[in-house]
Amino acid sequence: MILVLEKGITQQKKSQLKSILAEQGCMVHEPGGSGQNILGVIGKNSLTREFLIAQEGVADVVPISTAYKLVSRQMKKEDTIIKIGNVEVGGNKITIIAGPCAIESREQAMIIAKEVKKYGATLFRGGAFKPRSSPYSFQGLEEEGLKILAEVREVTGLRVVTEITSPMHADLMMKYVDVIQIGARNMQNFELLKCAGRMGKPVVLKRGLASTIEEWLMSAEYIAAEGNTNIILCERGIRTFEPYTRNTLDLSAIPVLKQLTHLPVLIDPSHATGIREKVAPMSRAAIAAGADGLMIEVHHKPEEALSDGPQSLYPKQFGRLIRDIYVIAPVVGKQLIHDYTGYSAASPGSLSAESGKSREGKRVVYLGEQGTFSHKAAMQYFSSDVENYPVPSFRDIFENVKSDAAAFGIIPIENSLAGSIHENYDLLLEYELFITGELSLRVVHNLIAHQGVKIEDVKQILAPPPAFQQCRRFLDANPDMKIVPVNATGSAVKRISESGNMEDAAIGSVEAAELFCMTVLEEAIEDNPRNFTRFVVIEKQMAQEGIKNKSSIVFSTSNKPGSLFEVMKVFSENQINLVKLESRPIHGKPWQYMFYADLETDLTDSSASTDNVIKAIEQNTEFFKILGSYNCGNKRTE
Ligand code: PEP
Ligand code: MN
Repeated sequence: MILVLEKGITQQKKSQLKSILAEQGCMVHEPGGSGQNILGVIGKNSLTREFLIAQEGVADVVPISTAYKLVSRQMKKEDTIIKIGNVEVGGNKITIIAGPCAIESREQAMIIAKEVKKYGATLFRGGAFKPRSSPYSFQGLEEEGLKILAEVREVTGLRVVTEITSPMHADLMMKYVDVIQIGARNMQNFELLKCAGRMGKPVVLKRGLASTIEEWLMSAEYIAAEGNTNIILCERGIRTFEPYTRNTLDLSAIPVLKQLTHLPVLIDPSHATGIREKVAPMSRAAIAAGADGLMIEVHHKPEEALSDGPQSLYPKQFGRLIRDIYVIAPVVGKQLIHDYTGYSAASPGSLSAESGKSREGKRVVYLGEQGTFSHKAAMQYFSSDVENYPVPSFRDIFENVKSDAAAFGIIPIENSLAGSIHENYDLLLEYELFITGELSLRVVHNLIAHQGVKIEDVKQILAPPPAFQQCRRFLDANPDMKIVPVNATGSAVKRISESGNMEDAAIGSVEAAELFCMTVLEEAIEDNPRNFTRFVVIEKQMAQEGIKNKSSIVFSTSNKPGSLFEVMKVFSENQINLVKLESRPIHGKPWQYMFYADLETDLTDSSASTDNVIKAIEQNTEFFKILGSYNCGNKRTE
């Protein structure tokens, strides 16, 4: 049962209610995160609705109709986000777990861990206790394997995942690893499930070889019933009559689970297909279908692997796949992030860097109100313990970062339909702040209004100018609607919500409509569905660690023939790919221009060749500034 509590119920009344329920032998659960004040109550001898509704502080009683309770979506509407060090699994983020089937040696584990980290994995996997079909096959290095996993974590900063095959190994697992995996063969080993629940560590629960989704969720319930809801479901293929692949990957489980449970869902295409060539296509499909991430087997010498070599990707293949995932994720509203600020949910960071970087009080400022695309970008880029804070203008974002009121700013810089956001280019030049990361967000615009408003009633539409530019065709088709510019989509939706005016509509995201209790009158009104906005993260310091494969610069040249060509020649001679070039007028100097360029290179590494490039650019420019070198996940790392 779900108890909906009275608004404003005091903490004391809530505690009293909880102890009454405990006396009745009930398990009481607070799902948390939800705006509503609710309690989940599970009793062995089901209590009557009459009894529950009669209790002080209870406003309503809603039964949970499924056999599983704690893991059901009815118990908790919001997605569960599981924190493993800096890494968050679930929500809008894509998590990649990668590594060999089994830990075979220290050297093998280290080589593979470094490779998969380079390409974007944030958790490292490797079996130490291997459940093999044959007792004569390699069974794993056991405790030695766990020690190697702990060492991998020390060296790479990647948190580690391994399979537990018996409750007897619980103490060892507690000592060495961050996440435990319950394998397909053990999905209904109830003693092991209970043990995993008691251990309290995050659990990857694989689907059994011949288990229904309901049986799988009941197994998750076993873990949750012990007080541990940090459960990641992992579909890894089921037994069917089809022999061409090792198992049959049930991708339809993703949308089914998304409806039934709040737990994150990963896909393991390696065990599902058993064939290296099939891993990438199924991974891409999994992300498109809404999975929260992937678990992939990778080996640097798969032909010599002691188990599952034929399904293991070579590191470079893995890298290519992750590039595709980076591109696909925003289409379905998710994000795979390579961030080296150390504050992203996907940033593994080194353990020492992590402890050195206190997240407490760290803040990212964004434009507008909650529910703007900037807000979404901030939430997707940073982990949930970085506080999001809205400000009314782009200049305010720069001012807040400059004055240390916020550690980070996030600003839109370019839209694929409407072009550059020039104000931000000018501000980047004006302020001594640096670009440290970027992300691309798919922007789906909706016409939003009050419940009951019909499209023909709408007299004016509120939105920021870029949104009008992106929805030109819709506006041309509705010439009677007056356009009213505001600073951000979230602000537009908030304003019509507060005014209560039934003739007003706003352009904004589905999230903004939900946030301000409005409805979507017309979905997807942007001119072209390939509508992406690129955001950049700004900070006071340049990005320090990690891969930086993109640099943004600004420069001016002298007013003589071929001066821009001379700068381009530096890029050409040094094999540096130019991905963007844009000119902006120099304020106060009519008809003179600054050039903004994005290059596929790191201009902050301390190599001699980079030094020469910088010197050559300086020699050919009158003004030159590096706006930042940062990681763009979609760039080659080799
Ligand atoms: C594994 O991930 O190494 C494994 C054995 O998986 P499954 O339990 O899905 O077969
Ligand atoms: Mn395996």
